[in-house]
Amino acid sequence: MPDEKKVCKTCTKPFLIIEQEQAFYKKKDLPRPENCPECRQKRRLSLRNERRLYKRKCDKCQKEIISTYSPDSKYIVYCQECFWKHIG
Ligand SMILES: [Zn+2]
Ligand SMILES: [Zn+2]
Repeated sequence: MPDEKKVCKTCTKPFLIIEQEQAFYKKKDLPRPENCPECRQKRRLSLRNERRLYKRKCDKCQKEIISTYSPDSKYIVYCQECFWKHIG
């Protein structure tokens, strides 16, 4: 498999997807990236900054915890204690 040449959709800089990377995306069944590594990194960082933290209650013991899921999301969130008990 030859390295794949791509042009970044964000900054139009050319970049390569090397063979190992192609194999990785194939294995994980992921689409090839459309952005160069720098732009991907920048986007990842900005996404992380936008991530909010919410105060909500543990769905098991009702203790107040900090979670990335809002209280009205349909995810079940456990405090650390209950989480470890749950998977143990
Ligand atoms: Zn770029
Ligand atoms: Zn709990």
